[in-house]
Amino acid sequence: MSETVHAPISIPVPVDPNADRPVGPALLKGWRRKCPACGEASLFDGYLAVHHECPNCSEALHHQRADDGPAWATLVVTGHLLAPLMLLMWDLWQPSPIVMASTLSVFLVAVSLFLLPRFKGAFIGLQWSRRMHGFGAEADAPTHQ
Ligand SMILES: [Zn+2]
Repeated sequence: MSETVHAPISIPVPVDPNADRPVGPALLKGWRRKCPACGEASLFDGYLAVHHECPNCSEALHHQRADDGPAWATLVVTGHLLAPLMLLMWDLWQPSPIVMASTLSVFLVAVSLFLLPRFKGAFIGLQWSRRMHGFGAEADAPTHQ
């Protein structure tokens, strides 16, 4: 006799729309690129495209308006990394300009690609937490009975 093994079934877990939404955990879940409501499912459908709603808890995510915020934050961080790196690199090795430009460019592109989706997730987590741009509108909507 063989024992039947059942695959785990993913059942959407509803999240209370009136629940408190602390900023810190929402920012952290967003930074991890997870849904700010449940923290389980991926926030993104691809590299930067956001799911219309969470595949796990059905939280509406289409309200997000991160816009240029994540790109701005990425530029601020990478720009502040670049200046000391250029000085340190020049002070230690004094490489030729082409070597310096090419190595720093590769490094900065890699850091930017790493940071951009994380900053976007954090921005969406902040917006969800503060019920901005329609996040939380379902909690304010009158219930029809
Ligand atoms: Zn979720």
